Amino acid sequence: MKSKIKSSWAEPYKMKVVELLKMTDRPQRLKSIKEAGYNTFLLKSEDVYIDLLTDSGTSAMSDRQWAGMMLGDEAYAGSRNFYHLEKVIQTLYGYKYIIPTHQGRGAENILSKALIKKGDIIPGNMYFTTTRLHQELAGAKFVDVIIDEAHDPASEHPFKGNVDMDKLKQVVEKYGAKRIPYVCIATSVNMAGGQPISMQNLKDLRAYTTKLGIRIIHDMTRVAENAYFIQQREAGYAKKSIRAIVKEINSYTDGATMSAKKDALVNIGGFLATNEWDVYEEARNLVVIYEGLHTYGGLAGRDMEAMAIGIEESLSDEHIRARIGQVEYLGQKMLDYGIPIVLPIGGHGIFVDAKKFLPHLTQDQFPAQTLSAEVYLEAGVRTMERGVVSAGRKSNGENYYPKLELVRFTIPRRVYTQAHMDVIAESINSVFLRRDKIKGLKMVYEPKYLRFFQARFERLK
Ligand SMILES: *Cc1c(COP(=O)(O)O)cnc(C)c1O
Repeated sequence: MKSKIKSSWAEPYKMKVVELLKMTDRPQRLKSIKEAGYNTFLLKSEDVYIDLLTDSGTSAMSDRQWAGMMLGDEAYAGSRNFYHLEKVIQTLYGYKYIIPTHQGRGAENILSKALIKKGDIIPGNMYFTTTRLHQELAGAKFVDVIIDEAHDPASEHPFKGNVDMDKLKQVVEKYGAKRIPYVCIATSVNMAGGQPISMQNLKDLRAYTTKLGIRIIHDMTRVAENAYFIQQREAGYAKKSIRAIVKEINSYTDGATMSAKKDALVNIGGFLATNEWDVYEEARNLVVIYEGLHTYGGLAGRDMEAMAIGIEESLSDEHIRARIGQVEYLGQKMLDYGIPIVLPIGGHGIFVDAKKFLPHLTQDQFPAQTLSAEVYLEAGVRTMERGVVSAGRKSNGENYYPKLELVRFTIPRRVYTQAHMDVIAESINSVFLRRDKIKGLKMVYEPKYLRFFQARFERLK
């Protein structure tokens, strides 16, 4: 088969500092994964060769960001780095009021508490683990209104993050607009495999919700990556810059939560943003309880400075082209080996379809969890499960059984090389060649919340 790997995505940076990695052998890895209860979250990072657990907080900062860290103004109140961050967010993202938080879920907690009443309904384009949990803890029920294609790993729909307007209308008819404080819209939908929402869909959504007086709250964790797909795929956007597209996306929404640990190229940080004074007032009251004063929100001044600089860098066209170019390179290599992956290739990683990879395992034998453990065993590559373990249980105790049972190979930004991508593809291929012999897992310990982080498993005999 002729490969479709593009040849021109080279990095717009060079290396100045490197971190040495520990190489491990198979007996060591077998011991490590057993000790970790077959949960890659419980592995020691030291025992990992290539770490694709997440793209969260794992990106490499630039020399400019590190220099910015030295300019940290560690005043308790009114740090100059806060004002810099505020200005960058207002100018580049276009939101009016901002509150920093220690990371994305800090913002989700405050926003959910500020906007949700018990019995409310939050429609959204697929759930995200922490986002849905904060909505539920605040008393709401989440309803998925993403298009059906998002649940089909083989569908090559260019905008699998789109909202199905008919599904949304049905939710509004069933519950009434009054019970819906906002529609929760993620760009580059993480749980669907980093799939984008189109500008047209956002425009339709804006027109519809404005009529009903329903807000749109934007989970903008990977907005720049979504903007890249709009630039590449949507008519009328090929000549627009990532900056312009990001600003247009945000203009159709009323507020946002952000995990700056992803797109914004920092190791820690986040914020919430709103265009409404009242919501800002309430959130500013709440942040003092949960995070810190509204001008630092759980962050050091230096963190806010690195975030301000990272946001700017993340919106450069060359940066995002190389970032997604590398992900596409890895995905294409896997396709060349015949590995079943979610298509189209998403923004922040490759999602392997574990149901197709291990068709002999039932969902109760945790195919994605199993595959993730096998990939570690093979080559020291750490990935994570996005399937029945991540989906957790409903409030009545029943398991959620998501249609998608995926292993996520998430690529940190500006960290690994093309040769690393080759090693990753070769190691999943080795697992693929011995897939028939792979046995499933059983869960032997299950924590109450977000079980995927700490659950433990044993191999089935
Ligand atoms: C990571 C993430 C969050 C939560 O952010 P944290 O910084 O990990 O707390 C929320 N939404 C999406 C889409 C994410 O990927």
